[in-house]
Amino acid sequence: MDQAQLRHSLESTIPPPMLPLLHRIGGEGERRGIPVYLVGGVVRDLLMNALEREKSGSVSLPHGREEVVLNSPVVSRVPPAWDADLDLVTEGDAVAFARELAPLLSAAVKAHDRFGTATLTFPEGSHIDLTTARRESYSRPGALPVVELGASLEEDLFRRDFTLNAMAVRLGEPFGELIDPFGGRMDLRNGALRVLHPHSFIDDPTRIMRGARFEARFGFRMEPETRHLALEAVRDGRLETVTQDRLRRELMLGLEESSPWACAERWEDLGILRSLHPELRTEEDRLRRIADVLRWFASLRQKETPDRTLLYLTALLSPLPPPVAQEVCVEKLGLPPPKTERLVRCLEQGPNLAEAAPALDPPALTKRLKSEKLEVILYAAALDPSAWESLGAYFQVYRHTKLGFTGNDLLAQGYRPGPEFGAALEATLDEKLRGRLKTRRKEWEYLLAKLEEQGVTPSG
Ligand code: ATP
Repeated sequence: MDQAQLRHSLESTIPPPMLPLLHRIGGEGERRGIPVYLVGGVVRDLLMNALEREKSGSVSLPHGREEVVLNSPVVSRVPPAWDADLDLVTEGDAVAFARELAPLLSAAVKAHDRFGTATLTFPEGSHIDLTTARRESYSRPGALPVVELGASLEEDLFRRDFTLNAMAVRLGEPFGELIDPFGGRMDLRNGALRVLHPHSFIDDPTRIMRGARFEARFGFRMEPETRHLALEAVRDGRLETVTQDRLRRELMLGLEESSPWACAERWEDLGILRSLHPELRTEEDRLRRIADVLRWFASLRQKETPDRTLLYLTALLSPLPPPVAQEVCVEKLGLPPPKTERLVRCLEQGPNLAEAAPALDPPALTKRLKSEKLEVILYAAALDPSAWESLGAYFQVYRHTKLGFTGNDLLAQGYRPGPEFGAALEATLDEKLRGRLKTRRKEWEYLLAKLEEQGVTPSG
């Protein structure tokens, strides 16, 4: 792949309104002697697009650009760049530069002087982050880095996690030039994740989890030395130097990937699951079934949105007894208490519900599910697909079923309000749920019969 192909990829992958903007920002930087670069995951994804296209031999783009990128089967594995944030690095003061750019680009600027970062927000809502190139050092393993601004681009790239995330694209002249000091492009071509130095995973063990995530997402592998360093760091308990929040965040990011089971499999392989709990193993089937259930639930078009990540986390921890899973959530992950409670309830009640649901009649099922958390219901569905039919009927029919009248209609007919009202209305609704009352007239007759059974008749 040559420079022209990369430029082509840049021009065909960055959304049209953004591309002239990047040109403009690069040009304004040139004028001020501030080199500006596109960095991070977007560069990796751009290159993957270009490589995929190169492999398939379809380098020319005969139609409208977006169309080709969106429809091309060869790039489907690669996330479209415009879903991602655009991160720019400047060799020079990013904040001062962003403040000068904002009026020129009709953008709003939000700056964090101390961190050397600024965000430009454009009228249509998109935004670009600018960061002053920095060096980072670690006061102790696993701590957040100590940041020193005013570094070169190469130093800024050197602080990153893997070579394929340590590339930049120049936005000044020549626009679109790839800067790849650590061989990221070659590693990308070989599907290899490589750390930039041997201390990388000790400085920041969350990089091991990021690595597992990229392995899963792209089907890549850590190259042997990097894998050795990762295994060693996990074995030496380095993940324990990371705060609960960072560990949980990384775990959740993995579970938010499109194939969380692939991530879990990489976590298991690298010893990360064992470091959470020695008994933890990947339940691939169960994680996959959560995906099936989420698709099924989406097809029911309900108004609630389930907590997908919590469901995957439940499936991930399901090899553990519920109290042990709870301990992992609290002690290792610092999961907020309401989420922990819901997860434990899924583990405790899910199997009961999965077993009971197909045998319950509609009124009993409705009563059981009305007070149940959505995630528990969906977890039960994942445990036993034979429960889908009755659970689906609950979401689509039973829970919306109402009688054609209320207690007020009884009052209007001369009935005196009393405790029997509620019981008779409920019995009528149950009968309707069983499908035995097809018309409003039948419901009414049934209700009056129920009241009469209890000696309730209209007065006067
Ligand atoms: P994704 O597609 O998942 O968003 P990304 O690479 O864009 O991937 P971000 O978390 O947005 O991920 O990070 C942006 C860039 O910052 C990365 O490409 C990498 O260069 C750098 N980075 C992020 N986290 C770390 C880390 N823990 N250590 C070193 N560099 C990091």
